Amino acid sequence: MPRSPEKRQGLILVADDDATQRLLTRQTLEQANFEVVEAPNGEVALQVYEQHRPDLILLDVRMPKMDGFTVCARIREMVDGAEVPIVMVTGLEDIESLERSYQFGATDFITKPVVWETLSHRVRYLQRAGNAIRALRQSELRLVQAQQVARMGNWDWDIVHDQVNWSDEIFHLFPIGRGVLDASFQSFLSFVHPDDRLRVNTAIDDALANKAPYLVEHRIVGEDGREVSVEQQAEVVFGDNETPLRMIGTVQDVSDRKRTERKIHQLAYFDALTGLPNREHFRKQTERALRDAKRNGHRLALIFLDLDDFKYINDTLGHDAGDELLCKIADYLQHSIRASDVVAKLGAEDACQASLSRLGGDEFTILLPDLQEIEAAAKVAERILEQLQNPIKIQGKEFFVTGSMGIALYPNDGESVDLLLKNADIAMYHAKQNGRNSYRFYTAHMEERVQLRLSIESKLKQTLEKEELDLHYQAKVEIGTGRIVGVEALLRWHNPEMGQVSPARFIPVAEETGLIVPIGEWVLNTACQHAKTWRQRGLVPGNVAVNLSSHQFRRGGLVEKVSQALASTGWDAQWLELELTESVIMENAEETIHVLNQLKEMGITLSVDDFGTGYSSMAYLKRFPLDVVKIDQSFVNDITTDASDATIVKAIIGLARGLNLTSIAEGVETEQQLNFLRQNGCDQVQGYLINRPVPAEQMEQLLRAEQSSDEKRPLPMLKPELKRANNR
Ligand code: C2E
Ligand code: MG
Ligand code: MG
Repeated sequence: MPRSPEKRQGLILVADDDATQRLLTRQTLEQANFEVVEAPNGEVALQVYEQHRPDLILLDVRMPKMDGFTVCARIREMVDGAEVPIVMVTGLEDIESLERSYQFGATDFITKPVVWETLSHRVRYLQRAGNAIRALRQSELRLVQAQQVARMGNWDWDIVHDQVNWSDEIFHLFPIGRGVLDASFQSFLSFVHPDDRLRVNTAIDDALANKAPYLVEHRIVGEDGREVSVEQQAEVVFGDNETPLRMIGTVQDVSDRKRTERKIHQLAYFDALTGLPNREHFRKQTERALRDAKRNGHRLALIFLDLDDFKYINDTLGHDAGDELLCKIADYLQHSIRASDVVAKLGAEDACQASLSRLGGDEFTILLPDLQEIEAAAKVAERILEQLQNPIKIQGKEFFVTGSMGIALYPNDGESVDLLLKNADIAMYHAKQNGRNSYRFYTAHMEERVQLRLSIESKLKQTLEKEELDLHYQAKVEIGTGRIVGVEALLRWHNPEMGQVSPARFIPVAEETGLIVPIGEWVLNTACQHAKTWRQRGLVPGNVAVNLSSHQFRRGGLVEKVSQALASTGWDAQWLELELTESVIMENAEETIHVLNQLKEMGITLSVDDFGTGYSSMAYLKRFPLDVVKIDQSFVNDITTDASDATIVKAIIGLARGLNLTSIAEGVETEQQLNFLRQNGCDQVQGYLINRPVPAEQMEQLLRAEQSSDEKRPLPMLKPELKRANNR
């Protein structure tokens, strides 16, 4: 009998060996709009099930070939067979076997004789219940799938009995086995990262107290030590009289999100090259430290470090080498400020948590919060300088990099990050000007000097066009003969507004602004020109010495520039002397040797100026093609009063003699000093005792006066004309 599909209630499999029973069942069910398929025994029942997938099965217990229990059990094992309602049809005599029916997976049972009037209602009811169960299973399945996708699990904590029920998914999320995490809340807490436990407990306590849901992020540490970041969201279920009964919640694995967050944080607050905190991080950290310092009445120090001549390495060796250098420096610095060391050295009780940041380029800061002694800041700076004395190997070459530091203190030098930074920068600046490779504490006085420096800088730019520069000359005299053997050209700047500006003040500015390059070229040309003119006028100035700044030396092309100056003025290289300081020689030693050798081959005399003030002085005298050692005036000053200065000067003279170099003492002002130098075998002298640096015209007079007499005379017996020139 064909029925319209919309009326169809479902397909029922009727398995019974009794044909009459099957027929009656079919008729009853078909009247209620069910469709029916039949099976006369257990084996056929299985085949029909596979073929038709009925919505419900009526299974006679006793059948030939395979009994109802076995059929039931087999269907339950089949794909999709777990949920189909199976109704066992059993005689009353089999009532004791009902227990078995359930064991084999039956859903329900009907006893024979069947009450036909109620059969279809019963079937409909069971089928609906089956549908509901299936729908529930499906939604559970979907939930599990959704949770798997979201890396989520849920739990239910019976607070009264302390029983936690974890969903399966939780055990995929937590790196913990099912058997290890037991049902108590304490067991769960023992897997929470120790640093997060307090937070989790507080969140739960708050939720209980405020009757509000909570959300907390924490880490779970598995048995193998693996960490997972999770987010818990939960709420409390309260019973009568507001007692908390249960807590239900979800757990989500947020490790990926955390990783991304960490990455974003890393990018925003850390320097990609060195991994150190960046300017932004430094600012936040310092602001926090300042707040703490204000609250607790502590002091705080900010050290600002700028590498000396980093730009040079970057420009000459390329950015990769520059980057490598910065990373190594970062390691050095990190090493020098390691809190434990600092504390150990200072013997301070409280740890001084120094923290290092890179502000950009070659600028670093070291924050010393909670400063017990101002000395601690100095100690850190000293340790950094010490550490930087180690050579740094880059691309197979060794480099010596120095740094200059400025230190500003809270509250004395400023109460804000900006002000402290600005003042530490100013102090750093002074460290640079005072010979670099050192540190300075900020003083208010420095600020004025910065202002002065700025005005020098702006005016210096016009010196060349405005012809405000001039050269003065100071004689170098041989002690044995009393004769002028050379002159040193010393730069003078007269500015209409500032008056006479000392080279010690404007040369560092010229170096930093790069103006030293054109100015240095001008000095070279002008000195050679003056000397050539004196020669043309029949005078013998001897060696004409020109001071070179390290910047000129490094900017390449020095050899060409010297050659050009000689060629254009017609001065002979044999009579040109170049004065270099120790630091010029030490920086970038290999390249320096190369350039010095070229200058030497041209016949130029090379001298080390201010000898004894730099470091590793002795070693390089042998390695470099030098001719003259100029003993620094600071030693000469006190040779007659300070025994150690006297010893140093004697040692330098001896060393120069041993290496076949000419020794000359700078800044000789008294006859006692001259006598000491003479007695100890110094070759030449230069200083106010002989003459102050004078303009070219006056130097010309001095040379003329000196040459008019051929006789050998003891120093400082200058002729009256010379003395007059000297006193002008
Ligand atoms: P320096 O090359 O060591 O020059 C010696 C300095 O000592 C000169 O100072 C000179 O005037 C001064 N002096 C000479 N005799 C005496 C003395 O008996 N007593 C005292 N107290 N001082 C004496 P100045 O001219 O102020 O130059 C300072 C420095 O500036 C020079 O030191 C040199 O390093 C630099 N400088 C001068 N001219 C140039 C230049 O053309 N180029 C470069 N790059 N640097 C220069
Ligand atoms: Mg000099
Ligand atoms: Mg000198």
